[in-house]
Amino acid sequence: MSYDVVVIGGGPAGLSAALNVRARGRSVLVVTNPPEENPLWKAERVDNYLGMPGLSGAELLEQLRRHAEAAGAEFRTGKVLSAMPMEDTWYLSIGTDMEHARALVLAAGVNRGKKFPGETEFLGRGVSYCATCDGMLYRGKPVAVLGYTPTARHEAEFLEGIGCSVTYFERPASCTIRGGSQVEEITCDGKTAAVAGVFILRPTMAPTELFPGLAVENGYVTVDRRMATNLPGVFAAGDCTGGPLQVSKATGEGLVAGQSAAAYAAAIMRKEQAAES
Ligand SMILES: Cc1cc2nc3c(=O)[nH]c(=O)nc-3n(C[C@H](O)[C@H](O)[C@H](O)COP(=O)(O)OP(=O)(O)OC[C@H]3O[C@@H](n4cnc5c(N)ncnc54)[C@H](O)[C@@H]3O)c2cc1C
Repeated sequence: MSYDVVVIGGGPAGLSAALNVRARGRSVLVVTNPPEENPLWKAERVDNYLGMPGLSGAELLEQLRRHAEAAGAEFRTGKVLSAMPMEDTWYLSIGTDMEHARALVLAAGVNRGKKFPGETEFLGRGVSYCATCDGMLYRGKPVAVLGYTPTARHEAEFLEGIGCSVTYFERPASCTIRGGSQVEEITCDGKTAAVAGVFILRPTMAPTELFPGLAVENGYVTVDRRMATNLPGVFAAGDCTGGPLQVSKATGEGLVAGQSAAAYAAAIMRKEQAAES
């Protein structure tokens, strides 16, 4: 389906962006991992969000999401795996599906997991971030799943269902991936397994993995006052743009990014209409 704006990430920044896209009368889809995978979900008490002291992180997230939903934002549970521009449209792959939009808001928070030795080297040659997308390539073969999300066990079961023999590592702290032209083995926390594939299932991905060519500085997305990135039609907000890593900063930036993305989408629409007439 086509939307004016797709927001990547359903934390405070993404929810604020979605609300403000709707306030400008534009359609918006928020693609996000389940709320319990959001870092704020674990906060016992948030006392520095103006006007709403004393809520748990989970309560605050639920209130923010209800507000965006009531404004007409649509939601889809899933992880955006890649983004590709074609003319004035951005195409996003979410698992095995695609969505597209005129503008995007990247509100994916910070990637807290460090890359493992061999991870980048073997990406596409045995290393994957999505079992349901790439699993068939490893049908009947031994694979490892490195699970950092509540849904990782289900992805491991999917792999077993297609005949893979799965070695499951629960939130391993230290792994090394080795091989030749393809992955051949992995060692995690002292345990070694011979495998043809390694599925690393983290809740977030580095912004530059999602958007090749995205300008970053010290790991944070570079934005201007409109929260525009260097990529046309891509805006960013929240923790992914840098500190302070706090809810108030995330919602403020989400507002600006949402308004900017809505304005960008409207301008593209006017251009399309002018070309048709
Ligand atoms: C334990 C803890 C306590 C905290 N306490 C406070 C506090 O008291 N006060 C305060 O102000 N701040 C607090 N923070 C910080 C606060 O949680 C963050 O600043 C805030 O959540 C940032 O919002 P965000 O929307 O930018 O990112 P996030 O809240 O991180 O949201 C990003 C969302 O995007 C999802 N996502 C990432 N990549 C993808 C993808 N490719 N596809 C789909 N979804 C994706 C992530 O899973 C996540 O749900 C705390 C953080 C933690 C961890």
